Order: sequence, then C-alpha cells, then structure tokens
Amino acid sequence: MKMKLCSINMAKNNCHIILSICFLYSFTISTASIQEHPSEPIISRFQQYLQIDTAQPTPHYYEAADFIISQANSISLESQTIEFVKGKPVVLLKWPGSDPSLPSVLLNSHTDIVPSEHEKWNHHPLSAYLDSQGNVFARGSQDMKCVGMQYLEAIRRLKASGFQPLRSVYLSFVPDEEIGGHDGAEKFAESDVFEKLNLGIVLDEGLASPNENYRAFYAERSPWWLVIKAIGAPGHGAKLYDNTAVENLMKSIESIRKFRASQFDLVKAGLKEEGEVVSVNMAFLKSGTPSPTGFVMNLQPSEAEAGFDIRIPPTADCKSLERRIAEEWAPASRNMTFRFIQKMAVLDKSGKPLITSTDSSNPWWNLLEEAVKRANGKLGKPEIFPASTDARYFRDQGLPAIGFSPMANTPILLHDHNEFLNIAEYLKGIEVYESIIKAYTSYTGHARSGVTKDEL
Ligand SMILES: [Zn+2]
Repeated sequence: MKMKLCSINMAKNNCHIILSICFLYSFTISTASIQEHPSEPIISRFQQYLQIDTAQPTPHYYEAADFIISQANSISLESQTIEFVKGKPVVLLKWPGSDPSLPSVLLNSHTDIVPSEHEKWNHHPLSAYLDSQGNVFARGSQDMKCVGMQYLEAIRRLKASGFQPLRSVYLSFVPDEEIGGHDGAEKFAESDVFEKLNLGIVLDEGLASPNENYRAFYAERSPWWLVIKAIGAPGHGAKLYDNTAVENLMKSIESIRKFRASQFDLVKAGLKEEGEVVSVNMAFLKSGTPSPTGFVMNLQPSEAEAGFDIRIPPTADCKSLERRIAEEWAPASRNMTFRFIQKMAVLDKSGKPLITSTDSSNPWWNLLEEAVKRANGKLGKPEIFPASTDARYFRDQGLPAIGFSPMANTPILLHDHNEFLNIAEYLKGIEVYESIIKAYTSYTGHARSGVTKDEL
C-alpha cells in the first residue's frame, strides 16, 4: 500500500512533496500521527498551530501570538504585537525589502476559529489528527490557520534559498474575524501603524475549491441584518378580522420569499454566481403569547417579528432594495416597522464600490495569475465572496485586496463538522505562496493607483 501511494504520486512529478508524503504515509499508517516525528517539521508546525484553542468565544490569543512569534524568530522576521483592544493581540511580522520606497505587501490571516460541536466530529477538532489518507482534521485547517502557516513556510523556504525581496513583506495575524473583526482587522486598518506600512496590495482568505481550480475573490457581499415587526389589534382566536400582526407579517414573508426565489433562480439558471445575487434568509420568527405549557392558543397576538440575514453584492442597487424594504417588506400602511441590527456599507469611503479590479488596470491581479500558473496551479474566474471577511476593511482604505486560500480538490468545510485539509494540498499551497511572494516582492512598478474600478 505504501509503495502504491508513492508510485501514484511520482507520476505527478512533484518530487519533494512526494518524498515527504510517502514518508508521511508510511509513518502514519503505523502510528496515525506524525507530530512526534522530527523529520516532518512542516506538518508538525501546522498541527501545533491547529492545536491551540483559539475558538470563539474564548480564544487563547496569547498562546497563538507566542507560537507565531516563535516561528517568526526561527526565520529571523521582525515582530511586534499590538493590542488595539486589551487581550486581543495583532501580531505583525516584517521581512524587510531592499527598496523601502516601493509599496509593501501585506499577507493577512485571522487567528481565531469558530467553535465546534466536538461530539459530532470523528476526531477532536483541536487534535489535528492526520489520517491514513493524509487529511489533517481540525477546526481552522481550512479557515484559516492553513494560510497563516503557509505564508510563514513559504518565507522560510524563500529565505533558505537566498531570495531577497525588493518590497517589504508584512504578515498580520489578527483576532476576532469570526465575530466581525471590529477589534481586530478594522482597528488595525484604521491605525497609524497600518498607514505607515505603505501597502500596495493585501492578500486575505478565500475558500476551498472542490475542483482543480483555485478560487480568488475580488469583492464580497455586505451583510444587512434586518428585523421587521408588525403590530395589530389582539383578538379572540376564533375571530376573522383584518390587520392582525401575524397576518401582516405573513404578507411580508410571502413577498420576501418571492424575492429570494427570484434571486436564487438566477443562480440555478447559471446566469449569476452565488456572490452576485442578493441572498435573503430568515434567521428568526417570533410571535405568540407564552403560557406555562407553551402558547395561549385562543388569542391572536398583537406583535409579530422576523429577522433576516441579507447579503448584498457591491454591484447591487441598494437604493431600490431600501425602497423595497420600506414599501413592500415592512410598509407603514400595514402597521409595520423595520430596523437593521447590522448594515455594512457597500461603497468605500470615497463612494466607490468595494471592489478590487481584476483586469489589466490592476498589475497585482496579473502578477497573482502568473505566479499561480508558474507554480503549476490553475486559477478559476475571480468571484465575489458570498460572506464577509476582513478584506473589506483593507478595501475600505482604498487598497486592492484579493481573497485567496490555495486549496483545490477540497470540499468546502469551513464552519462545518470534520473540517480538514489534505497535506498534499497544504504543501502545494506553500509552493504557490512562494511563487506569489517572489512575484509580488520583485515587482518594480509603483502600483498603488488604478487598482479599484472607477465605474461599474
Ligand atoms: Zn476565515
């Protein structure tokens, strides 16, 4: 079995990956874990990071920061820890370039992970268990401790090869992305420290790809969390009358469902990608008069409320959606009101859509495409990220930011049970980042303009 695995991999012509994987398999088959083995330090370092419990709501941030700084020290990167909010460290590393006048490169990753329902996993989500197929199971293996460690491993290799960057490379490890990033990337992006980095481009997280093409994201949808409320006269449960709270709310829900279906149809018909439509999903529905055994059944309640998670692409017509909410989904004529729990801007500070250009006006995009190709990777058509990431805070500063996590042939399991990443993909991703960092830091153009689209 060991031999078979080796010969399959040999055919792929990835010699140094092959050797380590073959070795790894032979080792794991006997022990089911390689972390004790000193000659597999790359995987072991990945596992060590995954084993640190940085799960919300009580992430062990200092433990993660200590680990990252120890890694930085081992490859002689400059490091500093900044606490914009006490207890929530941002670790900032630097590999100085030889030409400090050129705008620098930022590689961002978040250190926190979402919580897990341990009992629903086949292996404990903090064990970083490596199975006989080479899959590492852990919360954060895809989202996004893999990326943070891959940046470091790529730099470790580039340094070992004697490569010297022209541009400086910064690595930021930020807290709290999974709870909105307000005390992490948002404060970092708005800080003087950030301004002084003189950045030209930011890389942040993307998503796994079930096929052979890597995915890259140039924008993302903005969350609008809407609560609509209906009020009406209460009455006997047996009486038919107009304008009850529940009846009024139901009319709105029907209207919202129709809109949802029309957007979903565009995706189903292949006319739009998921990130290009407005998604609306009900988050809660609340009404009724509680009784000791449940609800009072012969009473029509005077209030009814529903909450929706709406995601808006930067290309959407926000004004018309706002009108739709006021006129159809929560009209005053039906005794309805609405409020937003969260309403993230779709435009940046200068009024432009928060979009990083992916045409010839943005040299960083072309460099990324070329670099991925050089590392024998394939890049799919650039997409709008369906949810939110920290990249929005960087785009908000007028910077180009590309969401990219090099995981091809991998099921999308972020926030899911049994999240895993195969080590062959992980190692391949390190090569891809080596190629990207090389291309970015060797680029001599003064590109900081022309990076966002002026018009759509
Ligand atoms: Zn993430």
